[in-house]
Amino acid sequence: MRDSYDVVVAGAGMAGALAATAAAKKGAKVLLLDRNDAKEAGKKTNWGWVCGDAVAKSHVDFVEKELGVRLSSPELDTRVKGVYVLSPDMENKFMFEGAGYTLDRPKYARKMAGVAEKQGAEYMPRHEVEGPIVEGGKIVGVFGKDADTRHFEVRAKVIVDALGIATTLRRKLPQNGFIEKDVKIDDIESTGRYIANFDIVKGDINYYDPDNALIHLNQRMAPGGYGWVFPKSRGRVNIGIGVEKNSLDKRNAKLGRSDTLHKLIDEYVAWNTVLKNMRIDADDNNGKGYWSVTVRRQQDSMVCDNYIGAGDSMSMPNPISAGGIGPAMISGVLAGNAAASAAANNDTGTSALWSYNVAFNEVYGNKTAALEVFRVYLQSLNNDLINYGMSHFLTKGEAEALSYGMVPEITIASKFQKILSGVANINAFKNLLFTVNKMKRLLEVYKAYPQSPAEFEKWRSTVQAEMKEVKERFPANPV
Ligand SMILES: Cc1cc2nc3c(=O)[nH]c(=O)nc-3n(C[C@H](O)[C@H](O)[C@H](O)COP(=O)(O)OP(=O)(O)OC[C@H]3O[C@@H](n4cnc5c(N)ncnc54)[C@H](O)[C@@H]3O)c2cc1C
Repeated sequence: MRDSYDVVVAGAGMAGALAATAAAKKGAKVLLLDRNDAKEAGKKTNWGWVCGDAVAKSHVDFVEKELGVRLSSPELDTRVKGVYVLSPDMENKFMFEGAGYTLDRPKYARKMAGVAEKQGAEYMPRHEVEGPIVEGGKIVGVFGKDADTRHFEVRAKVIVDALGIATTLRRKLPQNGFIEKDVKIDDIESTGRYIANFDIVKGDINYYDPDNALIHLNQRMAPGGYGWVFPKSRGRVNIGIGVEKNSLDKRNAKLGRSDTLHKLIDEYVAWNTVLKNMRIDADDNNGKGYWSVTVRRQQDSMVCDNYIGAGDSMSMPNPISAGGIGPAMISGVLAGNAAASAAANNDTGTSALWSYNVAFNEVYGNKTAALEVFRVYLQSLNNDLINYGMSHFLTKGEAEALSYGMVPEITIASKFQKILSGVANINAFKNLLFTVNKMKRLLEVYKAYPQSPAEFEKWRSTVQAEMKEVKERFPANPV
């Protein structure tokens, strides 16, 4: 452990195991550290592998194409044809994402830690990373506690931070002009979910669909977020909700309630008229858990000297869906590649690692600021406006395009005959036009993502100014 490595990857979750695999495949000497026992690789918290576990097929295909790693049963637990978003009144339903899978997360994580080892990475479970070793204002390694709670230190040319949302590295980095240490609370969803067997009491695919993942928008049941019902094998369901704290507080104040996340999840389960008699799944002690997920664009830069971040440590989950598995997979592969190349060239400064920022932006990140704008707009609408908007403002095709970060041509003229009833609805439509224009603007800004660190500060201040305007215009306004 006193050895020095080309690349140390901290965290053997979705991003970390792939980063270690990619870097080792490129010939780097790699150490993969995780605090869990090997049987519990990738476990996020004491609560388990807390996640909805849904991932798009295209992201699984990306891993196979880039690394030759083929996923199949049992880690790909159930195939789904798509993801549907339903309006609060259940009258409208939009396709949000195409085909994908729900994962058996513990089995997936164990397999991927094994793949990293087979590829030549040294895998060191039961090592808790407590912080960065910093010399001359730069990270040069990590320290922490081993299985016997003894202090350890390990150095590397490049450190990949794949520690997830609660990362002990990003938050303790030395001051630098590239990485934000803190994430704002209104960009975080508090979430919880059960994996459970149910009795299916009547068929209604708006409540449970064995072929599709369902997302229920409802500012009363899941303020500032949504509820989900994702099918799993053996008649099980992954069911949960995410809420945004500020929206929950406002919703409680309006309704005179003091509901907590835990209470809202149980109410959401009880609301489901199709799923009855819940029995929590015992597999891997992973049936019930609570955790957090960010819903903002990824960090504006994800590198600084000797440091690359991937996955949730960089706030990568999709701002609308909170889907973070795909971007964690993509960023893991790209981070491993970039870290190995920089280490091989003995040039691991910010400039040398910058190609990772550019690559992630090209493959995935260029749409997330636009999606963040849409998320902030959505959180400003109450149930009535969401119902009205989903039936009047957007066609199914337009809504699907928006969910992918593509911006359809929407004008007052194009909707004139359909929308004009009610002042609140008209205002909400005008705000949608503002949102769509802002999304277009941010897609343009991200097309011009800086090709080197020198152009970064100016670019970042443009993004921040745009987002500030959006957030000021659209305060959360649930119920
Ligand atoms: C309730 C919920 C539902 C979600 N649903 C979905 C969904 O359906 N689809 C989707 O795409 N995304 C979903 N997400 C998001 C998704 O789970 C994450 O984006 C994804 O897990 C990120 O992977 P990661 O590798 O970055 O981090 P993680 O999966 O969190 O992995 C981090 C790893 O680092 C380890 N670690 C952490 N700290 C330390 C430390 N100090 N020392 C050593 N090891 C450490 C952890 O134990 C873990 O093994 C959901 C999130 C939540 C909370």
